[in-house]
Amino acid sequence: MRAPFPILILGGTTEAMQLAALLKDSSKFAPVMSLAGRTAQPRLPEMAHRSGGFGGVDGLKRYLRENAVAAVVDATHPFAARMSGNAARACADLNVPLAVLTRPAWERCDGDRWIEVDDFAAARDALGTAPRTVLLTIGRQEVGAFRGGVGHRYVVRSVDAVAPELLPDGARVIAARGPFDEDQEIALMQREGIDAVVSKNAGGGATYAKIAAARRLALPVIMIRRPRSASDGEMHDAAAVMRWLEACCGDHAGTS
Ligand code: NAP
Repeated sequence: MRAPFPILILGGTTEAMQLAALLKDSSKFAPVMSLAGRTAQPRLPEMAHRSGGFGGVDGLKRYLRENAVAAVVDATHPFAARMSGNAARACADLNVPLAVLTRPAWERCDGDRWIEVDDFAAARDALGTAPRTVLLTIGRQEVGAFRGGVGHRYVVRSVDAVAPELLPDGARVIAARGPFDEDQEIALMQREGIDAVVSKNAGGGATYAKIAAARRLALPVIMIRRPRSASDGEMHDAAAVMRWLEACCGDHAGTS
């Protein structure tokens, strides 16, 4: 019997965990999930995993070679553009098959008051000059883009603590991890007197309640578009990736 095919899953998302659940009992594949290592208490998969950067494209290529990786699944967050770009380059250079597993972007619905922008600086500018109370739900890494400028009051929600030097003056920080429920989100927005929400277009169900809550309260949402566009090989469900793995490992023996 052939040794299992080493598979690298670039994780950190619900979709990566769904794929991990499907691969858990497979004897054909030997998957390893890679996490960025930024979250203090990450959800860990029931499979081999590693944590922390590879050291750019060259580091990733070294990892793929040393571990004879037969296929890579990029199941990173839709905003993890650098990691995705590195994976695309490394896999192309080494001729390792690559699949992208991502969740569809959220679509605007009737009643939504979205202002769509391309990046975090544009989101800050879109808040305008009249002071507002803003719910900032963009994770913690890019909070610094909202420092300085006009005197909005920010309520910053993040899984992990935000570095004090990134916080806008007077920001209130709420540490919480989704999934959140729509009624709780409405209660939070009303309690804090929120009059605008800033969000990345992350997609998926875990954090959508804030978008539905903003719609019910008729609040504007500054929606930051995804940094990468959908690619041809993009898949939206873990079962499709399993079929892809079966197909591409049928005739691929790994890197050398
Ligand atoms: P990024 O900017 O694409 O990645 C920066 C570097 O982090 C990569 O070049 C890589 O370092 C390392 N890295 C990222 N994901 C990795 C993984 N799965 N395994 C190993 N190394 C990884 O991504 P980011 O800095 O993590 O986040 C960018 C945006 O995505 C933020 O808005 C963040 O909130 C959001 N996000 C990311 C994750 C995630 O798991 N990455 C989860 C939720 C949200 P090397 O170049 O050294 O290999």
